[in-house]
Amino acid sequence: MLRDLGSREPEFIATVKRVRSKLLELAAVRDGAFECVLVQGSGTFCVESVITSVVPPEGSLLVAVNGAYGERMVRIAQVAGIDVAPIRFAEDEPVDAARVREALAAQRFSAVGMVHSETTTGMINSVAEIGPVVADAGAMFIVDAMSSFGAIPIDLVVARVDFVVSSANKCIEGVPGFAFAICRREALLATEGNARSLSLDLLAQWRGLETDGQFRFTPPTHAILAFDQALRELEAEGGVAGRGGRYRENHDALVEGMVGLGFRPFLAPESRGYIITSFHYPSDPAFVFEDFYQRLADRGFIIYPGKLTKTDCFRIGTIGRIFPADVRALVAAIGEVLDDMGIVSGA
Ligand SMILES: *Cc1c(COP(=O)(O)O)cnc(C)c1O
Repeated sequence: MLRDLGSREPEFIATVKRVRSKLLELAAVRDGAFECVLVQGSGTFCVESVITSVVPPEGSLLVAVNGAYGERMVRIAQVAGIDVAPIRFAEDEPVDAARVREALAAQRFSAVGMVHSETTTGMINSVAEIGPVVADAGAMFIVDAMSSFGAIPIDLVVARVDFVVSSANKCIEGVPGFAFAICRREALLATEGNARSLSLDLLAQWRGLETDGQFRFTPPTHAILAFDQALRELEAEGGVAGRGGRYRENHDALVEGMVGLGFRPFLAPESRGYIITSFHYPSDPAFVFEDFYQRLADRGFIIYPGKLTKTDCFRIGTIGRIFPADVRALVAAIGEVLDDMGIVSGA
């Protein structure tokens, strides 16, 4: 990242090409049936690019929602003036295939959106169960795999996924600046004429990258160079299996340690992923989240506030360049902070 590279230089163009093809490899689709489109901006920009490019002008979108990121897909569609219907589940309830099938039987939808790893709670929704239901109804399947791609495998072909979106700075451990969509080629080509935005036109973006290897508008050159290196490091760690394995170890160390301190995870073990974990606040009235947060930050540990609508929770992420020893150090720090705050148990 300390090197300046012009966005039209051959070395940069070669890097973009390599990154796009490595992402297809990472998605385990190499046969020309899928295409990779990079989109400047944060993850949301790319979700917005896909939704606003895929749903035809007179079309409609169904979104299966069980957290804030599902709600964001609904919001994106609303702002773009797209006819959208949410099908809502409780925040601790995985998206249910039978209810999605019912909704698709009651009304025709052009596309269905769902979040794979709902970062609001850490919930994993079964893409493999929902995809075939969507395909049977003749709709496109759009998956936000922002916080899982690169560490939790999805078989895009078996799960009948048409578009999957992720970003540079989550499980692939790059720096922020761009996101990407892996698109089933035929589905991408079928978006012709649908885009509601110039800069977020997914098909035009892909055509630009295919024609001269360049972005249509200035790309985040430094972030892409960093990402090229991040992909090498991911490969060196053993790809999706290796990285997912480390994150799972981090998660297991976290849950074991937190349960040892009395904390209660928000989700049942069967719907919990290993990316981020929500814990209930301790019942002790001496617990004040902002104070807890600051005391941990002072010790060098940054956790996440909760994002739930009804329940008081905080979240701890187990992705990024961290290892089980770091997680155990965090748990030890949490124990000290509870003592300092005069709280006997995390329960
Ligand atoms: C992080 C994340 C996003 C995108 O967030 P940005 O701040 O736009 O990068 C979208 N969906 C999920 C599930 C996420 O975890």
